[in-house]
Amino acid sequence: MTTKTTTAGIRDNKWLLSRLDFLWSEYFPEVSQTNKVFIRFGRYSKYRLGSIRLDRKTKSSFITITAMFKDLKIPAEVVDHTIGHELVHYAHGFSSTNPRLHKYPHAGGVVEREMKERGMGYLHQAYKCWVKKYREKLKREYE
Ligand SMILES: [Zn+2]
Repeated sequence: MTTKTTTAGIRDNKWLLSRLDFLWSEYFPEVSQTNKVFIRFGRYSKYRLGSIRLDRKTKSSFITITAMFKDLKIPAEVVDHTIGHELVHYAHGFSSTNPRLHKYPHAGGVVEREMKERGMGYLHQAYKCWVKKYREKLKREYE
């Protein structure tokens, strides 16, 4: 599994782009890129880990990842999971110029199911494990 994630180095926008390229070619090979897609770290957000939006003017898609994920202590699989999640939205025509496949972006757990079907079950496992501890930590901070 050494090719799936890189652990060394710093996490900057270039690193994010390399993860996006990897995940797209590995797990979404048949999804055509119909517009420009950008990815970058946004502000530090505890709850919103990632998002994708379509700029109506430029017709470009923008994936934003929380600055929290620059922290190397957070497993790279968790960052990959967040990017993979946004890529599923893109593939389904949300915040992309692809045809929309269903009415709501998260209808019936469709994102998780599709990630598993595309072979990203290991990312979902890593995320589930991390988010459990993370939620406990957040809870402690507010008690
Ligand atoms: Zn989503």
